[in-house]
Amino acid sequence: MKMTDRKKGLGLFVGLAMCLTGVMVWASSAGPGISPDEALARLKQGNDRYVSGKAEHPRADKQRREETATKGQHPIAAVIGCSDSRGPVEIIFDQGIGDVFVIRVAGNVANADEVGSAEYAVEHLGAPVIVVLGHTSCGAVTAVAKGAHLGGSLPPLVKNINTAVAKVKKADPKLADQALVDAAIKANVWQSIEDLFKTSPDIRKFAKEGKIKLVGAMYHLDSGQVDWMGQHPDQAKFLGAAAQAAPAKKTD
Ligand SMILES: [Zn+2]
Repeated sequence: MKMTDRKKGLGLFVGLAMCLTGVMVWASSAGPGISPDEALARLKQGNDRYVSGKAEHPRADKQRREETATKGQHPIAAVIGCSDSRGPVEIIFDQGIGDVFVIRVAGNVANADEVGSAEYAVEHLGAPVIVVLGHTSCGAVTAVAKGAHLGGSLPPLVKNINTAVAKVKKADPKLADQALVDAAIKANVWQSIEDLFKTSPDIRKFAKEGKIKLVGAMYHLDSGQVDWMGQHPDQAKFLGAAAQAAPAKKTD
């Protein structure tokens, strides 16, 4: 009898634990409860306030800190931005604590760590948007575009920037100097979005289901303005290729 009671007790405990785990998973993936378009609108409005000198610095007080510490985070977006000290993401979008899941890395690249972080934001926190945010005068992209020697751990970091620069040079071999750098900075934003799609089946799945949007954006260091580049021109191809990845190869 004792063993049976213990088993019952254990079963009850396991069942309760599973329920609680389920509730926790549900709570953490519930997200902010807004659509991708609404999230983008909030980021645009925040940047407008910042540019016009009317930033509100919202949700940055003690109450918000305590609320997010105890109730968890439901960021409205994941932003992959450059580590450049002149592009602080929460400030330029006039957002507060718990509003933006920020992934900053030199050259706003999307290597495994950045893709994994974006997946976490989307799958576990319910962020409806991933923004890849490039910026004018990006040192990392400029160094690659100008063929600077990069030692130490930098070569693997800029691997994907190399790809972006190569595409720009191939498309227009005459590009040089600032024009080349500017084109490479833009191409590098597209490259990160392409890398997110190509390396993450989960991000492709969420995008296909319309649960998330991936957009590019460009931050202007001088004006503070964020120009929105929209979705990747080849997004349909990336998502279509993903859908056809499993079947056998085409015979033609
Ligand atoms: Zn940069």
